[in-house]
Amino acid sequence: MAEGHRACAARSVLDGGEHGARLDQDGPHREDEQATMNDTNLMQQALGLPPPWTVTTARFDAEAHRLDIEIDFAPGSRFACPSCGAADCPAYDTERMTWRHLNFFQHQAYLNARVPRVRCEKCGVKKIAAPWARPDSGFTLLFEAMVMAMVSAMPVKAVARIVGEHDTKLWRVVHHYVDEARARADASGVTRVAIDETAARRGHNYISLFVDIDQARVLFAAEGRDAATVAAFAEDLRAHRGAPEAVEEVCIDMSPAFIKGVADNLPKAAVTFDKFHAVKIINEAVDQVRRAEQKTKAALLRGTRYIWLRNPANLSERQKATLDSLPTHHLKTARAYQIRLAFQDLYQQPSTQTATAFLKKWYFWATHCRLDPMIEAARTVKRHWDGILRWFDSKIANGLIEGINSLVQAAKAKARGYRSMRNLKAIVYLLDGKLDLRLPA
Ligand SMILES: [Zn+2]
Repeated sequence: MAEGHRACAARSVLDGGEHGARLDQDGPHREDEQATMNDTNLMQQALGLPPPWTVTTARFDAEAHRLDIEIDFAPGSRFACPSCGAADCPAYDTERMTWRHLNFFQHQAYLNARVPRVRCEKCGVKKIAAPWARPDSGFTLLFEAMVMAMVSAMPVKAVARIVGEHDTKLWRVVHHYVDEARARADASGVTRVAIDETAARRGHNYISLFVDIDQARVLFAAEGRDAATVAAFAEDLRAHRGAPEAVEEVCIDMSPAFIKGVADNLPKAAVTFDKFHAVKIINEAVDQVRRAEQKTKAALLRGTRYIWLRNPANLSERQKATLDSLPTHHLKTARAYQIRLAFQDLYQQPSTQTATAFLKKWYFWATHCRLDPMIEAARTVKRHWDGILRWFDSKIANGLIEGINSLVQAAKAKARGYRSMRNLKAIVYLLDGKLDLRLPA
C-alpha cells in the first residue's frame, strides 16, 4: 500500500517533467501499472545500475525537497567477494545505507539500499561496496566528483553552503581524492626544485612549498620553514620514486635554515638564490636609510616611502614629479636608492664573467657609501656570493617562482576557513599539484 503511494508520488513528478507545466497537478495522469514500471526503469537507466541492483521505488517529498530512490537486489543474488574477487558469493546479512546523490532538479536526491555482507568460502564474511559509492562514504561517486569539481573553483565553505552539507564532510572527500592521487604522484625525473615559504594564517604559521620547476607543480607542502622541512621533502621525494641525489639545482631565499636543509638533504644540488629575495634585502636596507634620515628631514621625505621601494619606470606621474623635486644630491636615501637600482642591473649582465666583475664593483661601491644599512646588505650579498651568481648559469625561471606565490595565494583564498594546515595543504595539492585525481565520470 505504502509502496504504491510512493510510486504514484514519483510518477506525478516525472510526468510533470515531461509535460512541463503540469508539475503541480494532483494525482497521477496515467492509471496503468506500466507507467510505474517506466518510472523506475528510467531511474534504473539514469543511474546505470549493474545487476543484480535494481530500482524498486522512488518517492518524492515536495515539502522536504527530497527524492528518495530505493535500490535492492533479488533474493538469492550472488556477489563477488570484495577481498579475493571470487564470484557467486551469497549474501550473509545486510545493512541499510543512504547516500546523497546528485540533485534531482532543485531537490536533494538520495539512494537507499541494503548492502550485503557476503559469505566467501575463502575469506569468510565480508562487506561489499555498493557500485555507486566508496565504502564508508555517505555520498555517491558522482556527487563526490561534482564536489571535487566545485572545490577546485571556489572555497570549500561556499561549496558546503551551495550543496547544503557541513564542510567537514566535504573536506573528508577532498582528502580522500587528494591523498590517493598524491600516493600515485611520480617524482622520478625531478632535478630542479624551487623552495618558497608563505605565511599560512595571519603570519603565524608558515607553509613551505617545494616546486618542480620543469613541470611547474607543487611536489610537497609542509608546515614550518626550517632545515627539517627540507629533510621531510627529501623523504617524500623518495616515497614518490624520486631521488634527493638527483636534484641538481635548487632555488631558495637566503634563509640559513633552507641553506642548511639543502646542504644536508640535497647533496648534489647547486644553490641559486632567488633574485627577488636578494633585491628585497637591498630594498629593506634602503627603507632603513630612509627612516633614519626622515628623523632629521621629515618635511622633505614625508610620503616618499613608496617612491624608494619602486623602480623609476613604475612610478606614477605624481611620484616622478616628487622625486624630481627632491634635492637628491644631498639625500642619503637617494644614494641608497641608486645602489639598489645598480644591484638590479646586475641581472642584466650577459654572462657569469661580466656579472662577477659587475658585482665586485657594486660591492666596493656599496661598502664605501657610509650608509650602515647598505653596508650591512652588501655584506649579506658577499656571504651569498656564489648562489647569487649561480643564477647566470642556472637561469632558474624567476617567473615561475613569482608564479608559485600567486598560486598559493589562490589556494589560500579557496581554502578560506580551512580550519587546519592539513586542509590548506590539500587545496594546494589539488590546485597546484597537477595530480591525476581519477574522478568517477
Ligand atoms: Zn574471498
